[in-house]
Amino acid sequence: MKCALCGNKTTMFTSWPVNVGHGLIEKIDSACLLKLGIKKTDIRSQNAIKRFSIDSLRKMIENGEKFSYSEYKSELKYQKNLNKENYENYFAEFKENGSVYYPLIFRYDTKQIFFALDFLQNVYQIHSFSEIYDFKIDKNETFISNTKKDISFSKGITGYLIAGSTGGVIGASSGNSNTKTLKEVSAITFTIRFYDGSYTSFALSGHTEDVANANKIELELKKIVNENNSSSSKSNNLSDLRELKSLLDEGIITQEEFDLKKKEILGI
Ligand SMILES: [Zn+2]
Repeated sequence: MKCALCGNKTTMFTSWPVNVGHGLIEKIDSACLLKLGIKKTDIRSQNAIKRFSIDSLRKMIENGEKFSYSEYKSELKYQKNLNKENYENYFAEFKENGSVYYPLIFRYDTKQIFFALDFLQNVYQIHSFSEIYDFKIDKNETFISNTKKDISFSKGITGYLIAGSTGGVIGASSGNSNTKTLKEVSAITFTIRFYDGSYTSFALSGHTEDVANANKIELELKKIVNENNSSSSKSNNLSDLRELKSLLDEGIITQEEFDLKKKEILGI
């Protein structure tokens, strides 16, 4: 085992975990911990630096900076308040001018979506309709039997879970003659991909209200994706046509050939 900062050998008893992003954990040794001004008994600070990237910790050591818990805490509080204020302002603004299908709010006047990803942590995103490339929906289904009282829920939800409650039975199918099985959706996960390659994922519960919202969201997203696809193919057609015109102007193709190809591109 090596220290993620200095590379020196360390053991699990003489090292402390730090988060290096993407949910990965690395360890740093007690020497580096001390360089950051953190004592072995200072559990509070050790937990706090898990939120720091390994690069920023390395920079702190290089610059001889010491970690200050009180500074960290007040900065965190400030950031939290700022996030809360922004979140609430945007939420109110979108709610007033848009359609709420929680956790999304669609604004048609500005063609934007507010993603209320986590109202406790004030995590939100705002995206333009035109950013959306495509999306997919994963339904986490659980089969329950009405002859059994214990219901097992399958988990495996990705992204942010919006509502924890379950219970919306959306369909029923009969098993054998003695036991009827009910199909229940315990979670609906949306993954929305954007043109820049990034994506956002969120989940709704199988609660009746959430299922209704999920259906609305699906419908709205479909419209947006269709619109985006057709407008991008429209602009492709336009540039094809321009290129064709220059070929005509340069005498590379004849008027007849141009007219034929133009009809083809425009689909007329
Ligand atoms: Zn080290």
